[in-house]
Amino acid sequence: MRLPPFKSQGSIHLDRKKSAAGLPIESLGPSPLMSYSLRQRQGHIAVPRVSPGDHVLRGTVIAGGRGALDPPIHASTSGTVRAFLEAPFAHPQGRSALTVEIESDGLDRATPPLDPLSIRDLDRTRLIRRLQEAGIVGLGGGAFPTAHKASNETPLHTLIVNGVECEPYVSGDDQLIRERAQEILEGAEILARVLGIQNILVAIDEHLLDALAAVHQALKAFPREGFRLSRVEGRYPGGGERQLIERLTGREVPSGEIPQTIGVICQNVGTLFNLGRAITQGEILTSRVLTVGGECIRTPKNLEVRLGTPIQDVIHYCGGLLAPNALLWHGGPMMGFEIKDSLSPVTPRTHAILAFEAPARPPLPEPCIRCGACNDACPAYLLPEALYRASRSAQLETLVTLHVGDCIECGACNVVCPSHLPLVETFLFSKEQQARVLQERERAHHARQRYEARISRLERQEMERERIRLERKVALEKNSSPKILEAIERARRKQQSMIAAMPKESSDDELN
Ligand code: SF4
Ligand code: SF4
Repeated sequence: MRLPPFKSQGSIHLDRKKSAAGLPIESLGPSPLMSYSLRQRQGHIAVPRVSPGDHVLRGTVIAGGRGALDPPIHASTSGTVRAFLEAPFAHPQGRSALTVEIESDGLDRATPPLDPLSIRDLDRTRLIRRLQEAGIVGLGGGAFPTAHKASNETPLHTLIVNGVECEPYVSGDDQLIRERAQEILEGAEILARVLGIQNILVAIDEHLLDALAAVHQALKAFPREGFRLSRVEGRYPGGGERQLIERLTGREVPSGEIPQTIGVICQNVGTLFNLGRAITQGEILTSRVLTVGGECIRTPKNLEVRLGTPIQDVIHYCGGLLAPNALLWHGGPMMGFEIKDSLSPVTPRTHAILAFEAPARPPLPEPCIRCGACNDACPAYLLPEALYRASRSAQLETLVTLHVGDCIECGACNVVCPSHLPLVETFLFSKEQQARVLQERERAHHARQRYEARISRLERQEMERERIRLERKVALEKNSSPKILEAIERARRKQQSMIAAMPKESSDDELN
């Protein structure tokens, strides 16, 4: 029986425009010059482990993660470390970061794979260590280290396999599911088994019929109970983590919390595919599947590309651009951003490279007409119109009350706004401001705590000194003869009279 798809609330319909849909994944070899940005999560710079002139293989660690569970950065081909330099990477503001350049030797030799792990003996500690050493991160666009997710010890009951590729043009996950459904489910099974998860929900966009069929077929060969295939309504942003969890489990992830709080973990299909390979074959993450598309790409493709490949080489492989001044885009058209420098390398975040005609004249924003369309479209149940007003007048308290931090930056409000207001851009700025204010508040709170702790420490010390003084006095009085006590009293009186007789200026001098 064909069940109706899970409905998306507060979402919009977008033209799918998936011109690469159904095209088999092609493999693109390494470029002559590969580059690896050392900027990792939260702006941390990974610690270099190689020097210029060193020879590396595919899989050699070129930089170690900062945090204990942050993955290292691996070379994705063999060659020679040419330089360390400040170079651009794909970033919304076109920032640059310390980058390692490797000149490929054309041999593409690899380090031996890590030892395959027996699934039966696998425990959480070994899983986390393997995910970390194999460099497994989320491939849905966030690149969050999977070892971090797996290390959270909150009891879990549900794993959601996210195959809802809801952004227009993007089709890499769809094609991966069609070609590798079995391995994706194996990855899900390993994660669920180690984390003690009972239910695995495989969520697929209702439009991806071949992907649905592939998962359906793969599930037949799977002995495990608890797997369920869920068709999700193909509206945007159906694949947003929090929205998907709520749709499939009926439970909302509380504001400011992570899904594990309610016993759920969500993983992208590409992440699970690579997780499975890291465990069963000891394979290190050195490439990813992505879509190259958009109206200005000559031949749209689904490609497996080595991390570190310059974006311009990927575009060249797809026949180049149809318009010389095309707008290059990193990620999906809704949540991605403009690529400022086409030499920026492919990273685990790069799930799509798109090219569009640059708009001749973008429509000018007009005043809000309070139509409420943005409120209806918001999948996070926010009030974009009220947020916009609060942002414009910098009312930070109101922004916090309206939960600006819960905005997932999906851009649905922008699409429906008849006044062409830059809503999401304004919220991004407000979120940064809010984060700064919260940080300052946290710092002030911390400083106040330290000050109060110091005062109470000084008070404690003074009381302790007083106690010791009293104890000594009592002991002295107990053990001394009246003659000695008289002498002490005489000395005290003499000292007091000397202080009283001291000239005023000299005592001030001493004080100064
Ligand atoms: S960008 Fe933010 S405010 Fe706008 S619809 Fe998406 S979640 Fe809601
Ligand atoms: S959609 Fe645009 S015009 Fe309508 S209420 Fe929202 S911000 Fe105002």
